[in-house]
Amino acid sequence: MYLSMVVPCFNEGHGLQRLHDALVTALSGHVGDYEVILVDDGSTDATLVEARRLAAADPRFRYVSLSRNFGKEPAMLCGLRHARGSRVALLDADLQHPPELLRRMLVVLESGYDQVVARRSRVGEGRCRTALTRTYYRLARWLLDVPLQDGAGDFRVLSRRAVDAVLSLPEHHRFSKGLFSWIGFDTAYLPYRNVRRRAGRSRWSVPALLDHAVDGLTGFNTKPLRPAIHLGGALVALAAGGGGRVLWRAAGGGAPRPSGLLPVTLGLAGLQLCGLGVLGEYLGRSCAEAKRRPHYLVKEVGPPSRPAPAGTR
Ligand code: UDP
Ligand code: MG
Repeated sequence: MYLSMVVPCFNEGHGLQRLHDALVTALSGHVGDYEVILVDDGSTDATLVEARRLAAADPRFRYVSLSRNFGKEPAMLCGLRHARGSRVALLDADLQHPPELLRRMLVVLESGYDQVVARRSRVGEGRCRTALTRTYYRLARWLLDVPLQDGAGDFRVLSRRAVDAVLSLPEHHRFSKGLFSWIGFDTAYLPYRNVRRRAGRSRWSVPALLDHAVDGLTGFNTKPLRPAIHLGGALVALAAGGGGRVLWRAAGGGAPRPSGLLPVTLGLAGLQLCGLGVLGEYLGRSCAEAKRRPHYLVKEVGPPSRPAPAGTR
């Protein structure tokens, strides 16, 4: 078995040595051969310098540096494309995905699974974030064709055929959690305790999380448009009924009452905007996909002259 570990890194320069030490300690003597691919996602700190230094010092470490910050999803895709192993692990650079879990994950994978997903508890997370995430997963279960598990993120180990399946999906707007679920194959889950970030800050701002959430909900089917259609139909029926009553009153000499009209109008306008927003989201996606731009651009790959180890692709 040859294991590739893909680590997307955005401004993680201060922690890469610690990541190196943790990975080497966790895997020494337990996993055959392995490589670590650090994907520098256009960092503005010393990440690239550190990646070059680690790759020069340890032949198991390689790096790919992107021309600018493209985001975690394109960085992961780049790492998966560069991975040569028969097994591939994905993990974050900030040690929130504990490397000591990798051994157990690999044991489970070897027992006949194609994906082993580490599923984190929400211990230590803010109540508001936990509540919002739970609601989101409920909504996702209702709307999506693919099952999403709360707490199951990108920390996972994949067989080569699972990696190839993910790489065969060309879409530009990537929502990996959903894509990993979409490809199917036998999947096992391993629970682990949430680990707080040791240093630096999470790159996920609230707007970025909301964008990612919308990507997930609209990336797999057009079901989110259905409620708009059903609601639109119901409102037309309601309006027809209300209009009939107004006409009936007018015919009887009564005047229409305008007081209740403002909230109704506002509500309807809001619903129309929501419907248009969802529609626009799909249109925007089609536009982005039609351009067929690359997901990312590579600035530097290193070290350049090292040959692929025996038994890899
Ligand atoms: N990351 C990246 N590109 C980005 C943002 C993040 O490659 O634009 C990497 C980051 O360096 C880390 C992983 O993705 O290794 C997870 O990021 P972060 O810790 O900010 O997310 P969180 O743990 O809060 O979900
Ligand atoms: Mg993190």
